[in-house]
Amino acid sequence: MTEKWSTEELEASVVAYLDMHIKDSRNEHFVKKSYYSGLSEKFGRTEKSYEYRMQNISYVFSLMGRQWVSGLKPAKNVGSNNAEIIERLICKVEGKSYTGVAGFETQVNTLKNKKILDRPAGLVEPTISIGQATQYSRDPKVKAWVLRESQGLCESCNSPAPFTTAAGEPFLEVHHLKRLADKGSDRVSNAVALCPNCHRELHYGQSNSDKIDALYAKISRLIRE
Ligand SMILES: [Zn+2]
Ligand SMILES: [Zn+2]
Repeated sequence: MTEKWSTEELEASVVAYLDMHIKDSRNEHFVKKSYYSGLSEKFGRTEKSYEYRMQNISYVFSLMGRQWVSGLKPAKNVGSNNAEIIERLICKVEGKSYTGVAGFETQVNTLKNKKILDRPAGLVEPTISIGQATQYSRDPKVKAWVLRESQGLCESCNSPAPFTTAAGEPFLEVHHLKRLADKGSDRVSNAVALCPNCHRELHYGQSNSDKIDALYAKISRLIRE
């Protein structure tokens, strides 16, 4: 059993991951191994254990609904404590507000797979936590144009919108292929209209990168950023 990871070591791993993430999202060349060897020199663990830790960070990214670094498949056995610490570090390094989704979802997954899970009493009066979510400015014309272009059909699976909104419009969600959080643009060349299933899958699915590639191949207005 190796020694417990210090916050300093976790933070250095998160910083390395976010650096790879930026390069990956810009399609810049980078060598993962050199990040691991740098960490290994500094903190004395094997390169392999840093690679595995990066996959844990990918898992936290996936819980946050974000695109993980390609080639670093999410590895889910990260305890809820570490998941929470990693998410806090990601938010701190990126200067964003912490929402606490990763710690919560890790607990859900762990509990869900327990042999015995008694029916919980729950919370009669959940307390309010007032957070400021990070918001990006958006151009309503972009959303309108993409929705109109879709003609009420999901641009990924081609199914009709699942329902009609109160305003009488087909309900589809507009997703930015390169996320705004990853400095993607709010332009029609980066946005697609999706049914809720496809939209959730693009955020949380195991094979979402295949679906993303298929969208770029199929829709000519899209440009990789
Ligand atoms: Zn769909
Ligand atoms: Zn989205």
